[in-house]
Amino acid sequence: MSTRAEDAFRADIVEVGRRMYARGYVASNDGNISIRLDDSTILTTPKSVSKGFMTADMMVVVDLDGKKIRGTRDASSELLMHLEVYKNRPDVRAVVHAHPPTATGFAVAGIPLDCAVLAEVVTTLGSIPIAEYGTPSTPELPAAVRKYIKAYDGLLLANHGALTIGPDVFAAYYKMETIEHFAKISLVARQLGREHLLSREEVVRLQDLRGNYGIKSPAPICADPSTSSGSRAESRDDPSTSSEANCQIVQAPSSHGARLIPSDPADLDGEIRLSYRELTALIEDAVKALLGGQHG
Ligand SMILES: [Zn+2]
Repeated sequence: MSTRAEDAFRADIVEVGRRMYARGYVASNDGNISIRLDDSTILTTPKSVSKGFMTADMMVVVDLDGKKIRGTRDASSELLMHLEVYKNRPDVRAVVHAHPPTATGFAVAGIPLDCAVLAEVVTTLGSIPIAEYGTPSTPELPAAVRKYIKAYDGLLLANHGALTIGPDVFAAYYKMETIEHFAKISLVARQLGREHLLSREEVVRLQDLRGNYGIKSPAPICADPSTSSGSRAESRDDPSTSSEANCQIVQAPSSHGARLIPSDPADLDGEIRLSYRELTALIEDAVKALLGGQHG
């Protein structure tokens, strides 16, 4: 890595930190940002500094074990969580962590942002699950993140905040903006009492569009694996069921515009989930309709 390239990355982190602070995604010295410099080194934000007022010289270079290589300051206390992402996702070159208030409110309420509501969110992020609570700056948090990070580019962290990743630091940061924007819209829809969801059919169509837009999604959209073993809340709290996620769970009803969310969000009985069998049937129907259209 040339000094000039590293200088550009340092400037990018300063800019992303400034935007995070300006948008109120962090308070005080919260949040952290990192960039993969090469196979073995990571550039990251320092601890105990407001992310809105950083300078390029404050950044710290560490190896994949978190050992400091360069820098006068110490790396962020959440560095372990960033390193966990880099170890599990070779495609990822940047990680952003913040506490955007509305998305974090969902993370505190235990409500994942996994309903098919906005087309661009389904296409880009799929859905945003909640990683189990782990005490900040301990190995608990990386362990919680590990379970989801292979299938998702954005996570809520229970009772804490949000984590986004990407091929560069601006891509990772924009996912943080998308999550907070999605959370605000979902909150307003829920306050209005009507969160109309996109249909399963539309979700399949949006998933197919990913290729057209050149969106590299880490995993396909799939069924909720916890439905066979009780409610999502129960299985989320049970570490014995914490196998790694290998697909993105999106809640979508069978017909367009159906109301999936009952008046009491705690009552999950009204939810319908997309199974592999249903997904396959939908794709088969779509192919049949397409072929019929071509010949007719
Ligand atoms: Zn945090």
